[in-house]
Amino acid sequence: MNYPPLYLRKNSERTVRNGHPWIFSGAVERRPKDAQNGDIVDVFDHRDTFVCRGFYNKRSLIRVRSLTRDPDQVIGDAFFQQRIAEAVAVRRATDLAHHTDAMRLVHGESDGLPGLIIDDYAGYLVLQIHTAGMERQRAAILAALDQVLAPKSVYERSDVGTRRAEGLDDRPTGLLAGETPPEFVAIQECGARLHADLYRGQKTGFFLDQRDNRFLLQRLAAGKTVLNLFSYSAGFSAHALKGGATRTLDVDISPQVFPAARHNLDANRPDGARADLLAADVFAFVDHLADQGPRYDIVVCDPPSLLRKQNQLKQAMGVYTKLNRNALRLVNDGGLLVTASCSNRVSQEDFFQIVRRAATGARVRPRILTYNQHPADHPVDPAFPDGRYLKCIFAQVLR
Ligand code: SAH
Repeated sequence: MNYPPLYLRKNSERTVRNGHPWIFSGAVERRPKDAQNGDIVDVFDHRDTFVCRGFYNKRSLIRVRSLTRDPDQVIGDAFFQQRIAEAVAVRRATDLAHHTDAMRLVHGESDGLPGLIIDDYAGYLVLQIHTAGMERQRAAILAALDQVLAPKSVYERSDVGTRRAEGLDDRPTGLLAGETPPEFVAIQECGARLHADLYRGQKTGFFLDQRDNRFLLQRLAAGKTVLNLFSYSAGFSAHALKGGATRTLDVDISPQVFPAARHNLDANRPDGARADLLAADVFAFVDHLADQGPRYDIVVCDPPSLLRKQNQLKQAMGVYTKLNRNALRLVNDGGLLVTASCSNRVSQEDFFQIVRRAATGARVRPRILTYNQHPADHPVDPAFPDGRYLKCIFAQVLR
């Protein structure tokens, strides 16, 4: 099958030949005359040799998102079935299913499906489409999901701001197939009983990527008091309570997340333990509290991405540093800071430096115990280093 041809400038094909899926606007010499956003195009180098086949979008700086480097691979039902089956097989080859019934099945570019996210909450799938190209493939994706997984249902949560850069105005949500999911879908995560809010929750309803870090906290929390900053549905505190924490305080700016948080706290809280929720801006809250000295055995700090563009890196590092300095000042002697950054622009080394500077500012001596990234259902393709985003440090705090 032939798709309209797009030609690259000389010497612009190397990263795509090495497996990176993105072709930026500056690399394009000549585009197909009539190509519409979301069309599939064939990409050639300046010698007219085939490079890849992918989604075209002239609205996006990422002009083409490569789907395959095999000129014989047709982008149709069989393609989606194969890629989704591969992604599912990657998860099945891990021990994830022993620990949880909720996991990411498709992680966009990192699974060879640019712009597509699929999360599985105990058989209820949530689908999220980020790009104009994927938007056209909804029917093929649904057919593939039915073939590979026979899910209880597929619910769409494509209400993401990034669609704007793709020229997609509409942000579709709603049931695409199967039964109506319950208001809170019950999931198991490493011994904790949690709930995902598929309808109103952030992202697809739950933050699966912190699973391993929540479980590690569970194993360190017996008898401890916990402050959970940027708490969302209280996953970290729910695990801490499961592990025997005596008291937790969850702080988030959006009280809409509290019904799910309450569910999660109560489902794991031992008798006699106390679990409070507070609606507040964490930045102002810790700024105020830090002056009053240490008061928690464990402080968890998991902010949303604090930067979007590369040129904001320096400024964002300053914000992360101040936030972590204040968080460190709240930790009791011998206690624990659990701190994360989910911005892919902040490198592992950058985040290490943030914690180093924060400790100097807070006048504490941290001991980094672990330095984790996202878990096996968010795998990394080394050809696509942009897919690395989560960093989480557990540090013991000595005063
Ligand atoms: N740790 C959570 C995920 C956190 S997501 C988990 O394990 O599930 C980040 C959260 O930060 C979101 O719930 C968002 O509402 C909240 N948030 C964003 N800005 C905030 C601010 N300035 N103060 C408090 N919370 C904020």
